[in-house]
Amino acid sequence: MRSKTCIQCGTIFQGRANKKFCSSSCKNEYHNEQYRNQNQVLMRLDKILHKNRTVLKDMYAVYRSTPVSLEVLKARGFHPDFHTHIFTSPAGGKFTMVYDVGYKQHFDNQIQIVEHDVEA
Ligand SMILES: [Zn+2]
Repeated sequence: MRSKTCIQCGTIFQGRANKKFCSSSCKNEYHNEQYRNQNQVLMRLDKILHKNRTVLKDMYAVYRSTPVSLEVLKARGFHPDFHTHIFTSPAGGKFTMVYDVGYKQHFDNQIQIVEHDVEA
């Protein structure tokens, strides 16, 4: 037994070397906070990805495979840094996907949008 500091509330307590919490309620509180923080990270990312998917779907409904400027998508709240995976078409084109819709970048910031279900 030795003096320890609870990593949740800062209370000094006596415990084994590997003990981190003064009580089970501090232990629960700590893990609940960790879980909440993890969820907040995922929720922030989900929100950006879902917005990107909506913008791509809306643009695909209008433009189909006609090239469109990436700037048009950005003006609608599209964030090109956030995507889910890369889809390589049978013809060899690489598409940056957001779930089931994505795009291939051409020269001069023009993109071509495709819809493609996931086959994993
Ligand atoms: Zn504590």
